[in-house]
Amino acid sequence: MTTTTMNQAKVFMDLENDYGAHNYHPLPVVLSKGEGVFLWDVDGKRYYDFLSAYSAVNQGHCHPRIIEALKTQADQLTLTSRAFYNDQLGPFEKYITEYFNYEKVLMANSGVEAVETAIKLCRKWAYTKKGLSPQEAKIVFVSGNFHGRTLGVISASTDPSSTGDFGPYMPGYIIIDYNDKEAVAEALDDPNVAAILIEPIQGEAGVVVPTDDYLPFIQKICREKNILLIADEVQTGLGRTGKLLATCGNCTCKGFCENKPEVRPDILILGKALAGGVIPVSAVLADDEIMLCIKPGEHGSTYGGNPLACAVAHASLEVLKDERLDANAMHLGKIFRTRMQAIVDKYPIVLLVRGKGLLNAVVVDDDEDGHLAWDMCLALASKGLLAKPTHGNIIRFAPPLVMTEDQLHECCDIIEDVMANFKK
Ligand code: PLP
Repeated sequence: MTTTTMNQAKVFMDLENDYGAHNYHPLPVVLSKGEGVFLWDVDGKRYYDFLSAYSAVNQGHCHPRIIEALKTQADQLTLTSRAFYNDQLGPFEKYITEYFNYEKVLMANSGVEAVETAIKLCRKWAYTKKGLSPQEAKIVFVSGNFHGRTLGVISASTDPSSTGDFGPYMPGYIIIDYNDKEAVAEALDDPNVAAILIEPIQGEAGVVVPTDDYLPFIQKICREKNILLIADEVQTGLGRTGKLLATCGNCTCKGFCENKPEVRPDILILGKALAGGVIPVSAVLADDEIMLCIKPGEHGSTYGGNPLACAVAHASLEVLKDERLDANAMHLGKIFRTRMQAIVDKYPIVLLVRGKGLLNAVVVDDDEDGHLAWDMCLALASKGLLAKPTHGNIIRFAPPLVMTEDQLHECCDIIEDVMANFKK
């Protein structure tokens, strides 16, 4: 790096530091361009992206079909609010509901807004359909969850850095241990439980995968007791885990084939890659029995379902399907974990690899407050690969799903090279 360019990067970092809230701790890399699996910094240095903006860029940076849809629609109409109809929303609602096999969709903007929508929706259903007494509805969450940053959502968090000094919190939540079937059975025995809200794989917790029988078990009890199963697939959905949805069985779900999903959530929450990393778009899907509990005037958002979002999300879903990114993620994920397992076997500082598809994490031998994972990510960046620790000792590896096998091997070589140089 020359002195001039070092200074250029520093100028941008200083600006963020001086004028932005200090609510993030970014890696010291200043990016200015993206294409497919690659990012470039302000010096023109190229990196493989192994974060994909927390799994929002499944289709790769600036996918030409998605950008084309964005530009075409931006020239026509971008926002009407829902005070009027527009010519994009209806066709997109038909497309997305058929794609995921639900009767209705409610469009929103961010992931957390969709989670909040699902929470409101299940409460409304509990009072108007299930017959719970006013103010009595409870929702079950699991430890280690991450569903976003609003108060209604952090109230369910067990992570002190999410909740600390932000109280008082939302009542009506029950939090049980993750991947504990007995705890599920006990919690769902409470007659006031309206729903259980769960990530099929916990992304922010460090890509924690439950046992195979956990979600089917939850679904079985939910059906027996008339409780809604809400799946937060904001991070795991849309091909990331090697299937259209992480809740699918070994097929790729109704959108791409005729096989049945293993678990069919009553409410499905999507975000992030729904717009290919281009603009914020999220969605809540459910059948009429649930979705129509919310009536006009009871919920909404100015930008939710705007024409630009619909055009971009439509193209993003098409790309996912036409390029069969789910299948590529499944194939590359197996190679990635095999290569990482070889590193685990060779270098004691690397403890384990876990994940599904291209949502993976490597755990290194340090405590949660340690800096080992951070230092490794700095070393990876210097060799042209961007990844970020999710806790002090866990590095998430989640590249765009458009990666090729050769590129993946090149990246695994970089990771091995870096890990080999770290000792405890
Ligand atoms: N749910 C899950 C599972 C997530 O991983 C995230 C973000 O990382 C969210 C919800 C919140 O999404 P957003 O940051 O778009 O609000």
